[in-house]
Amino acid sequence: MSTETPQAKSDYQPPNGLEKMVILGTGPAGLTAAIYAARANLNPLCVEGAQPGGQLTITSEVENFPGFPHGIQGPELMDNSRKQAERFGTRFKVGDVQKVDVTKRPFTLTLADNSEVKCETLIIATGASAKLLGLKNESRLMGRGVSTCDGFFFRNQDIAVVGGGDTAMEEANFLTRFAKSVTIVHRRDSFRASKVMQDRALANPKIKVIWDTGIDDVLGDQEVTGLKIKHLKTGVESVLPVTGFFVAIGHQPNTKLFAGQLDMNPAEYLLVQPGSTKTKVPGVYAAGDVSDPYYRQAVTAAGTGCMAALDAERWLEDQHHLPHQH
Ligand code: NDP
Repeated sequence: MSTETPQAKSDYQPPNGLEKMVILGTGPAGLTAAIYAARANLNPLCVEGAQPGGQLTITSEVENFPGFPHGIQGPELMDNSRKQAERFGTRFKVGDVQKVDVTKRPFTLTLADNSEVKCETLIIATGASAKLLGLKNESRLMGRGVSTCDGFFFRNQDIAVVGGGDTAMEEANFLTRFAKSVTIVHRRDSFRASKVMQDRALANPKIKVIWDTGIDDVLGDQEVTGLKIKHLKTGVESVLPVTGFFVAIGHQPNTKLFAGQLDMNPAEYLLVQPGSTKTKVPGVYAAGDVSDPYYRQAVTAAGTGCMAALDAERWLEDQHHLPHQH
């Protein structure tokens, strides 16, 4: 293990304004890429968007990130990671990136104030956002009974899950370990989840399903007390009394900036070469949830963030004919 003293390089100015590496996003993928790149003296510039720290900042306790036997609060984990990246000289820039051009080198990012950032390598770690229903009180009660990720804190409570896909089934099953009851509210009369996941949920004695039903609003002043629901075939309205509400209607990867420039799957996740973080454009890498519809964990995002930094570093070394450091 290295004991070298890191040098603060936050006043670093790239020669001719050309950044060696820009990282888009400051969730676990982006910050891990920054830690690795900064330690390799690549002076990365991290551009942070609308949700600095990523999805973990809207989580409470993270209990499955290795190294924290008693768990750690999501915002604290991200704050620590950011300090670790800063310690090795990562620079941070707050900016709403409006446009990215990776069709020619150097790559160009255009920010909302029309300023441009030019870079030799780009790591895309813009994540995916959990889709919300768009109800009046859904965002207001987020974290106060409304959740889009792990529900350990719903112990001994009656909980509702909305959605009919694999995420909804998986979460409903997972929640029954702690909850008193779980009610899946679904807008149709059949699930789209894989058969095995559906069967598991339907066989679980703690899970009940309300079919053909929409959710009109989340009820509660300071905390969730229920859901206003409507049967979509009969129009009958009622209140489902629950103290937890889990929204599991899918994720939207944040990839709009790259439409037409990088390959994506039908759900708009970036495609990378298997076993690497390489996109089809040499020098452009994708890490974390933006290219991962499957695992979507903080620790897998951090892992691919590390891979992206190493992939970019090796590519830069090859371009500049430098010896590999790692
Ligand atoms: P999906 O897109 O598969 O499912 C979303 C669900 O939410 C659908 O049932 C949909 O209803 C419902 N929904 C969407 N919008 C609304 C709305 N506005 N109001 C009410 N309901 C709504 O997303 P998932 O996150 O479940 O899965 C994404 C991918 O990840 C899939 O490929 C899945 O297989 C995979 N995955 C695999 C897992 C595993 O194998 N362990 C675990 C989790 C995910 P409708 O059906 O009517 O369209």
